[in-house]
Amino acid sequence: MQAKLIIFSAPSGSGKTSIVREILKSDIPFGFSISATSRPPRKGEKHAKDYYFLSVDEFKKNIEEGNFLEWEEVYPNQYYGTLRSEVDRIRAMGRNVLFDVDVEGGLNIKYQYGKEALALFIMAPSIQELTKRLKNRGTEDSESLQKRLNKVEHELTFAPKFDQIIVNDDLQRAVNETLKSIRKFIVE
Ligand code: 5GP
Repeated sequence: MQAKLIIFSAPSGSGKTSIVREILKSDIPFGFSISATSRPPRKGEKHAKDYYFLSVDEFKKNIEEGNFLEWEEVYPNQYYGTLRSEVDRIRAMGRNVLFDVDVEGGLNIKYQYGKEALALFIMAPSIQELTKRLKNRGTEDSESLQKRLNKVEHELTFAPKFDQIIVNDDLQRAVNETLKSIRKFIVE
């Protein structure tokens, strides 16, 4: 069975990362695609674990060399992208590739890999709940928070293009639903 690609995308604050963490603890053999970014590391984040932290110049050089499967300037001068080498690295281990990327990046990967990829859109139950989660996370200053909220509306319009929408109303329920879909997909 060829290793598959599972893509998780969501507006920030949807609880996507919590779901991804649980999925990675399951018995399904996964490798996490480590994205590259030009944003500075947050407290506790490690290079080559959470992200490959690159300077803007290093990031642009990789774009020019065609090393990205997809990339985006998600916020001004904050680039994010998936290195092609990640898919090869993880597939070489015989593991399924798990992506945690933004909405447009997720669709870009889906379009390139077609039936080999399952694209999941994680959604908070409401905008109010999403705002609350982002505030409670405490990682954003008010400008950054507003920037993220402004993007949410736009990001939600992409939801119908995904293979499946998972509403993260209750973490354990959402994890169970996600696991069920992934198990079905990887044996197909
Ligand atoms: P954060 O700064 O909170 O870690 O991520 C900001 C946004 O960038 C999130 O929506 C996240 O999903 C997205 N992102 C992370 N990695 C990638 C990637 O490889 N490609 C793209 N297009 N977006 C990414």
